[in-house]
Amino acid sequence: MKLSKLASEIAESATLALNEEARQLRERGEPVIHLGIGEPKNKTPINAILASAARLTSGEVKYTPADGMPSLKKAIIRYTEESYNRLVAPENVIVTNGAKQSLFNILYSIVDPQDEVIIIAPYWVSYPEIVKMCMGRPVIVTPEDGTFTPRFEDIERAVTAYTRAIIVNSPNNPSGAIYPPALIESLVGFCERKGIYLVCDDIYHKLTFDRKEAVPAYGFTHQDVESSHVIVVNGVAKIYGMTGFRVGWVVGPRDLVRVMTNVTAQTTSGVSPVSQAAAEGALNGLQAVVEALRLQIQNNRDVLLQEMKSFTGARLIPPDGTFYALPDLRAFGVSSVEIARFLLKKAMVVTVPGKEFGMEGHIRLSFSGTVKDVTEGIARIKWALDPTSPNEIYLGEKKMVRDWL
Ligand code: PMP
Repeated sequence: MKLSKLASEIAESATLALNEEARQLRERGEPVIHLGIGEPKNKTPINAILASAARLTSGEVKYTPADGMPSLKKAIIRYTEESYNRLVAPENVIVTNGAKQSLFNILYSIVDPQDEVIIIAPYWVSYPEIVKMCMGRPVIVTPEDGTFTPRFEDIERAVTAYTRAIIVNSPNNPSGAIYPPALIESLVGFCERKGIYLVCDDIYHKLTFDRKEAVPAYGFTHQDVESSHVIVVNGVAKIYGMTGFRVGWVVGPRDLVRVMTNVTAQTTSGVSPVSQAAAEGALNGLQAVVEALRLQIQNNRDVLLQEMKSFTGARLIPPDGTFYALPDLRAFGVSSVEIARFLLKKAMVVTVPGKEFGMEGHIRLSFSGTVKDVTEGIARIKWALDPTSPNEIYLGEKKMVRDWL
């Protein structure tokens, strides 16, 4: 079959592929623990359910404006004012099918063939692939000191005449790092001076721990939304645990939103009104649901840190936000893909190899599940890799004895 070069070069989504593998194992009755996917276990907030159910029962499920229903955009404007202290107009907002499509449409709208987009490692797996889909070139900047926080100078050095955008994701998937305010401030000033877009993927911005905060880029610009080079991506997937509704949005200059609206109109025609109503319900509803989720995730993080303490050979920079941790397992001397495969085969635990995030030698653990998933999952990982851990374990009903260390 003849397939396009562009599409053939796009990598399979590693996380979705692992999910599929885990699903098949589970179907066969295997006691799989999923530390792979970033998806909170909570039920959809009641306000979201009621709003979408009302929309559905009204029978008014038709096309909406491609850039989103005015009532949802209103809720997004209020959210932006409350969370970012920025008053924006409806023309600055576009609703998309998840934050993933927000990122695709932004990059499609600003990148010409061969333009460069700076991505900071460790990075979310989809960024480089999305840049490539837009015929751009991903330029990866990796912190050299072994931390997950880049130095401004390293980013500055990677900028060329072709650089169109820098993507910043803080709190960061997969490391859980929150970038320091001084770095964000430098990036905002730099991007404004150079005419480069600063794309802030803020999808985890309310999921932070121990009162640490991800300071928004908007806090450092004196310019209005039209002339500032800050573009903010957000959505309901993570902070409300509404991954399946597929609603994200972008706040940015109206020229960008206008072009993105044309792109949306010619591709998806916008988001289902049932999902948009759900997002509106979540945004207008009781925000205690976000805090409840944050507390649950923070508790999982604390459990994870406790369990990781006795993991000889693993080094972990504690996550300050999101629901991911990225332990460094380089001491074991094998590739992250081999480790993730080994863990799935021997211990029935799904993890994601760090290689997918530009961090070889690490694996990503998601603690978005239950406390039991976290404790049992890490006990199994220690059993599989750490010779100082007990050599017997139960995988479901089956008692297993380690005979390889
Ligand atoms: N950005 C980051 C950093 C993410 O982790 C994810 C989801 N894993 C997304 C964007 C996409 O979110 P959505 O489900 O809204 O498309």
